[in-house]
This record gives sequence, structure tokens and C-alpha cells, in this order.
Amino acid sequence: MRIGYGWDSHEFKKGVPLRIGGVELKHTHGLAGHSDGDVLLHALTDALLGAIAAGDIGSHFPPSDPQWKGADSSIFVLEALTKVRQAGWEVCNVDSTLILDAPKIGPVANRIRQSIAELLEISPEDVGVKAKTPEGMGTEKAAIAHVVVLLEKHEDHKRLEVAAAMLEADNHVDEVVKQLVKDVRLEKAPAKK
Ligand SMILES: [Zn+2]
Repeated sequence: MRIGYGWDSHEFKKGVPLRIGGVELKHTHGLAGHSDGDVLLHALTDALLGAIAAGDIGSHFPPSDPQWKGADSSIFVLEALTKVRQAGWEVCNVDSTLILDAPKIGPVANRIRQSIAELLEISPEDVGVKAKTPEGMGTEKAAIAHVVVLLEKHEDHKRLEVAAAMLEADNHVDEVVKQLVKDVRLEKAPAKK
């Protein structure tokens, strides 16, 4: 099993659409910055990449690259998910905490869970979305997201590993047999006079 952790923050900006977890929410402000500013999907991307020690969102999708300006952040999640699968892992579950002053996440949490579950091709029951207000933290002008993911070995990879282990054991048996044959031959060899 592998664990991955991601964190991100974006500043609220007036007149920009607000996207959190791939869901567009009604609010006076959206999130400025890299791509569509989806703070939750960025933290999720980092958590996925982190779990397989494959760098971070900035190294794969540099904010300085104009092609990511205003981009749909689900692209980053799907790319990270592909890397996870190529490395032989699959997502077990995800948990997240958002820290933001507004809007209220409670009423839309299930929509966000559904959206993330669809992206990762897992059940919404395996996606936790929690939210807190930034009391005493002075971060009211920003949205912050923390995400952890748990990965387990892909079934095919598990089978491949078992097969490889058996092959190795087989090879080892060959070596033991060869050695035995050698020993027997030595024993049977006529003693030199
Ligand atoms: Zn971000």
C-alpha cells in the first residue's frame, strides 16, 4: 500500500467562476491562479503524484506554461491517475479537508464527492469531503485544501508479482538441482590413484 498527501491554496478573486472538486459553485468570488483555480483537484493531483513519488503538479504542469491558463483541472487529476496506474497501483480511498470562509460546503459536499469519485473511477463512499472555516488563521481571502489518498496494488500487478516470485523460485530449484548433480558426479567420479 502507498499513501499520498497533497496541499494547495488559492486566493479568492471577484468575478471568477468558483470550481471546487470539479463542481462549479455559486459564489461572488472564484479562485485565481493556476488553471481554473480548483484548489481541491490540485491538492488531489499532488496526493496522487506524491503516493508514487512522481513529483508534483508544478513539475508536470508548470503554471508558467500558457497552455494551462484557465485549463480544466480534471486534466491534471486524470494524468496523475494514469501515472498511478502505470506504476501498478489503484486508488483505494481519498479523504480531504477544505478550509474556507465561504461558501458553505456542507450542502454541496455530496456533489463534490460524486465528481471526484467519477474522475478516479471509485465509489463516492470512498471519497471524504470535509470543510472548516479558517477561524483565527487569518486566511479568509483564500481557500485551502488538504488531501490524502491510499493506493493498493493493482490486481494484475499482484498476479504478475506472484508469477515472478514463482519463476524465481523455479530458477532457484534449477540451481539446487544442478549443484546436487555436480555433487553426485564428484562423488561418483573414480578416485584418482
Ligand atoms: Zn493550485
